[in-house]
Amino acid sequence: MKIAIAGTGYVGLVTGVCLSEIGHDVTCMDTNQQRMDTLQKGIPPIYEPGLEELLRKNMAQGRLYFTVDPKQAYSNADMIMIAVGTPENEDGSADLTYVEQAAETIARHIQKDVVVVTKSTVPVGTNEKIKQMIERIKPANVHVEVASNPEFLREGSAIYDTFHGDRIVIGTENDKAAEVLEELYRPLGIPIVKTDIRSAEMIKYASNAFLATKISFINEIANICEKVGANIDDVAYGIGLDERIGLRFLQAGIGYGGSCFPKDTKALVQLAGNVQHQFELLEAVIKVNNYQQSLLVQKAKKFFGSLYGKRAALLGLSFKPNTDDVREAASLVIARQLLQEGASVIAYDPIAVPNARRLLGSMIDYTEQIETALVRADMAFIATEWDMIKTLPLQQYCDLMNNPVIFDGRNCYSLNEVQSYPITYISIGRKEII
Ligand code: NAD
Repeated sequence: MKIAIAGTGYVGLVTGVCLSEIGHDVTCMDTNQQRMDTLQKGIPPIYEPGLEELLRKNMAQGRLYFTVDPKQAYSNADMIMIAVGTPENEDGSADLTYVEQAAETIARHIQKDVVVVTKSTVPVGTNEKIKQMIERIKPANVHVEVASNPEFLREGSAIYDTFHGDRIVIGTENDKAAEVLEELYRPLGIPIVKTDIRSAEMIKYASNAFLATKISFINEIANICEKVGANIDDVAYGIGLDERIGLRFLQAGIGYGGSCFPKDTKALVQLAGNVQHQFELLEAVIKVNNYQQSLLVQKAKKFFGSLYGKRAALLGLSFKPNTDDVREAASLVIARQLLQEGASVIAYDPIAVPNARRLLGSMIDYTEQIETALVRADMAFIATEWDMIKTLPLQQYCDLMNNPVIFDGRNCYSLNEVQSYPITYISIGRKEII
């Protein structure tokens, strides 16, 4: 199949690379010239395990192209996938500017019958608007069908998820479009959920809202554990073994971040509000998460009294391990709060420093060596559970820091292990070791 992808970010690029890997002829289009110049050289602009190899392989085999020219991408495609960003507006609703621009450009350049598939996360009703928009502009002799095919990949394991996802959701009102999409995905052997467009759009928001709820739930239980002297690790394990609950997404910590959960939860609250439904549960989930992201600095203030003049090592910048994405990461909140409190910050991350620097600038120092961050630090804040952070021997904190005080936002170390070192260790939902 000849596939064009509108938007070559995390979702568009990974989708394009994976579809070319299973034999399709894929042209990725983006309005960002610099991004496409880099990609044309075989260099991925994002970090994702396994991406670079597959990118180079499929480019070399002539199945994967990158362009900023919409005519080249769209005019001859059998299927066009929209994977542009849907950031949040000030009121929390989804900003559909890029989706609308992409739909308009597609409509102006298509020359043959095509199925337009939306992978971007969009509010219920958006695909219908996309169809109307394209219908108004497209050439009269060209037939267009629209389908919703929300994306569930996780950053950090995006390639794996594309090939081994739990399900593929196809929402369309048209049997032919459903068939074309089923044919596209059949080689992956992943269960397919076929539904109407509105339900498909809702599945994406409901999935993310549920996962965010699970995180805020366990974080609230952790906060209570601290007050009643229980241990969240044991509590989470004890409840998670119940198959109806499950162990995944039950790690207490400093909240969710990234480019999806924060904006999608807010967008669903707005979407519900638009139909006069106040989504109180999800509002509480968001509130708990905001509180949780600032929890470590609160704990530090409580411990030290004042953070003024203290040197902080911030360990981990990306919103989760194995990605260089720092959007809405708890680390950003921690860095800004520490600066406000008059502390100086040196941040370590193995790969996310360039992205963090774009957002935080020179307000803090950066390093890609964990030891450099810890040298003479008064306090260490663990914001991301990278392997190299989780496995850092505790002796290193003792050797490098002034008087080791660790605020662990990801519960990387077991309390038993910490107890045998002269370390002050304050984590989430567990006894403080002072
Ligand atoms: P991104 O910001 O990484 O990439 C979006 C790309 O679209 C950018 O490169 C931008 O230049 C390009 N673009 C903007 N307007 C364009 C246009 N008119 N034509 C062509 N390209 C255009 O975004 P992302 O993280 O890949 O997310 C894309 C969508 O997928 C969002 O709706 C997001 O919510 C959803 N999603 C993301 C993830 C994720 O983990 N990142 C997972 C599931 C779903």
